[in-house]
Amino acid sequence: MIDWVGLHSNAWAQIQADLARDRLSHALLLAGPAGIGKLDFAESLAASLLCDQPQPDGRACGHCTSCTWHASGNHPDFRRVRPEAFEELSPDAETDKPASAKTDRKKSEQIRIDQVRGLEAFIQVGSHRGRRVIVIEPAEAMNEATANALLKSLEEPPAGVHFLLVSHAAERLLPTVRSRTRAVPLGVPSRPAALQVFAAMTPSFKDGNLWLNRCAGALRFAIDLATAAEKRPEASEDAIVEASLIDALLSQLMQGPRMDALALAKSCEALVKGDLSGTRLALLVDWLQRWALDLQLVRLGAAPMVFPEHAATFQKLASGLNDDRLSHYPEGLLEARRLCGHPLNIRLFLESVFSRTLALYEPSA
Ligand SMILES: [Zn+2]
Repeated sequence: MIDWVGLHSNAWAQIQADLARDRLSHALLLAGPAGIGKLDFAESLAASLLCDQPQPDGRACGHCTSCTWHASGNHPDFRRVRPEAFEELSPDAETDKPASAKTDRKKSEQIRIDQVRGLEAFIQVGSHRGRRVIVIEPAEAMNEATANALLKSLEEPPAGVHFLLVSHAAERLLPTVRSRTRAVPLGVPSRPAALQVFAAMTPSFKDGNLWLNRCAGALRFAIDLATAAEKRPEASEDAIVEASLIDALLSQLMQGPRMDALALAKSCEALVKGDLSGTRLALLVDWLQRWALDLQLVRLGAAPMVFPEHAATFQKLASGLNDDRLSHYPEGLLEARRLCGHPLNIRLFLESVFSRTLALYEPSA
């Protein structure tokens, strides 16, 4: 178990101090880069707010009735709101739709408006034991109508109701939502602290630094990917797909002008297709952007930051680059990133992206 509260101890201490003075905002926006344990932090905070006898530092006791309920996922005063595609439909997200409606369509990668409307009844009925806590993650997965529906609940919730919004793209939230929450910025854990966690958790991991570099210090991502790359039984399906995508990309991208763009498109398509195709395509483009960043750094005479272990190969690739193409390549990736959320032909999309990558090595006219 990783101590995410300890890794973000300043934010935790501030929240506990506010709580002790009865000045904690009823809606917190836990914001920061993806993969640093924001959701884990939110879950610990929810457990602590619901706990009957919190410890002196505010953490949940872990064994009272409330903690037992929360741990089993059955706390009557707790709701977690996430896009359906991110997890199996939980009892929390109960809707009155017939079962067939749920199974016939693609699961949403957005939080649906009826999930948010369902909260109104929950916060208006009396609580079972005092406080009620709602975790919304990721908060940016709400379109404008859904966010507006949430505003009503955010405006004047009854006493004892706590909203914990989790976001790694807080700038994309409606200003009206942001202004009704108090921001709690969470940063990337320090490298020594992250390496310590890595080592303590999994002493046999080969190289914590390798994964922390790849994930820009985002510890949760780094551990998830390391777990998946080493094919451990506890690896999540998402992380296995992501680690496979990175493998597929690197195995071709590092061949430079000899890469097989069509074969790469085919293998990546097999990995991204399904309910989460939009999310996974975006993930793929993110990794391509990181690889391109390293290529640009090496071209400028600097060391690669994300994949430093491939420094020698990057050197070789950089010597054969078309600088004009390279200078326009990032814009193309940004444009591709914008298209990911829209329905598209995945194979054609990938072939186009990788053809542009291959064109980086075409001789200048
Ligand atoms: Zn407790």
